[in-house]
Amino acid sequence: MTKIHSADIIIIGGGAAGLMAAAGAAATCTGRYPEAKVKVLEKMPRPGRKIMITGKGRCNFTNMKPWNEFSGHIHPKPNFLKPAFYNLSSEKMVDFLLDNGMESVIERGDRAFPASHLASDVVDALVRAAESAGAEILCGKEVTGISRQARNDNGEENETFTIRCADGSEYICRKLIICTGGLSYPKTGSTGDGYVWTEKMGHSIRPLFPSLTAIVPKGYKDGKGHIDRSNPLSENGKLLCGNQLKNVNLTISIDGNEAQSEFGDLDFTDGGIEGPIGFKVSRKCVNAIINGSKVSISLDLKPAVDVDDLTARINSLWNEVSKDRRNADKPYKDRFRFLLAKLLPMSLVQAFIKLNPNTDHKTLPKRLKNWEMEISGYVGYERAVVTAGGVSLEEVSPKTLESKLIPNLYVAGEMLDLDADTGGYNLQTAFSTGYLAGISAAKSL
Ligand SMILES: Cc1cc2nc3c(=O)[nH]c(=O)nc-3n(C[C@H](O)[C@H](O)[C@H](O)COP(=O)(O)OP(=O)(O)OC[C@H]3O[C@@H](n4cnc5c(N)ncnc54)[C@H](O)[C@@H]3O)c2cc1C
Repeated sequence: MTKIHSADIIIIGGGAAGLMAAAGAAATCTGRYPEAKVKVLEKMPRPGRKIMITGKGRCNFTNMKPWNEFSGHIHPKPNFLKPAFYNLSSEKMVDFLLDNGMESVIERGDRAFPASHLASDVVDALVRAAESAGAEILCGKEVTGISRQARNDNGEENETFTIRCADGSEYICRKLIICTGGLSYPKTGSTGDGYVWTEKMGHSIRPLFPSLTAIVPKGYKDGKGHIDRSNPLSENGKLLCGNQLKNVNLTISIDGNEAQSEFGDLDFTDGGIEGPIGFKVSRKCVNAIINGSKVSISLDLKPAVDVDDLTARINSLWNEVSKDRRNADKPYKDRFRFLLAKLLPMSLVQAFIKLNPNTDHKTLPKRLKNWEMEISGYVGYERAVVTAGGVSLEEVSPKTLESKLIPNLYVAGEMLDLDADTGGYNLQTAFSTGYLAGISAAKSL
């Protein structure tokens, strides 16, 4: 016969949100209900697998910007996060990690990292916080189903959840916190299971789509819509891949209307367009492509100068190139290439010429300020940093993270219809919502 284990609070998922929920719940129980049991069920052999790969292994765990700036990086409804953020702000998170043995450093753009630059230190500190407060973290526990009972065997009102695991074990609890994350990088354990359970329990799931991912210009790789990261580069992709553009302007248009414009750095990679501003526009691009809209981008490679100044500069450079006696016998296309080499990184010159075949020295200023590319697709969950969409925020209380539909059920982290830009905002969102869910569940025991 299956032995049913019991706990007062069960947290499914030992990632960023789940570990903070465990720490918050166990610490809150310590003073009030010292006998209460808090357990985390994590399907992977170790907790925090995704945290280990964040920030390229360095883990940009939060961003120190004050709420009025921080909130501008949260989508689609930053105000939902406000109570959780005020309860556990970025500063409090830094202190929390310090109390649990981890020092931090703040880098460019107010991004916080562990001083060791090792993501494993963040995981260790979170595990230490949860376990030292009394939570038990059980790994290798893949939850396969949840059922809810409103009454006990005697017919008395007694709400409980029964949780079944792939290894045949079962757990029963009074408070359930689901923190199973999104769909991206499924090898880390986040395979979207929580969306299925919460939907079955009556929650609406706002449309899910990958965000902070590569967008793929037409002709860069074969395919349309979701283009797998492993698809090989086409000829144009090979020419562009490896170029890193600094201080450029990227504007996206959806169905011909300008939708977003960002200034900064951009990388052409084996996936497509990435880098800080590539990622920033990816949310709108992917959503638009999925909804059947036509997406294009315009790159301004010389945003610091207007087209008149650029024209004057190009005319003067063109004079130089044309008067150079070494170029006297050279055909136009060679002289045009020499001109471009004075304006662009060498690695970009050939790609620019191939992709802008009708451009000459007269039309060059306009083209440098408006290099258009159609976007045919995006890299999917296999390499997207986050999942946008999720459990509808209308159905969850922002002050407690408790479901408004199912009493005693809490939802936190990436499972919610909340996602953020790069810069430490996603992890802080998971930490803040997880912590508040844990505290709220414990307080209501
Ligand atoms: C490559 C990459 C780099 C990133 N870098 C950063 C960064 O530097 N800064 C930043 O702020 N954000 C970063 N993020 C985003 C950030 O990691 C996530 O937003 C965050 O981890 C979400 O936390 P979570 O707890 O909701 O989900 P997760 O951290 O994904 O945790 C969910 C947990 O639930 C477990 N689980 C799932 N299903 C089950 C089940 N059926 N039974 C039991 N357990 C289950 C999973 O194994 C997993 O451990 C990055 C993401 C990726 C993919």
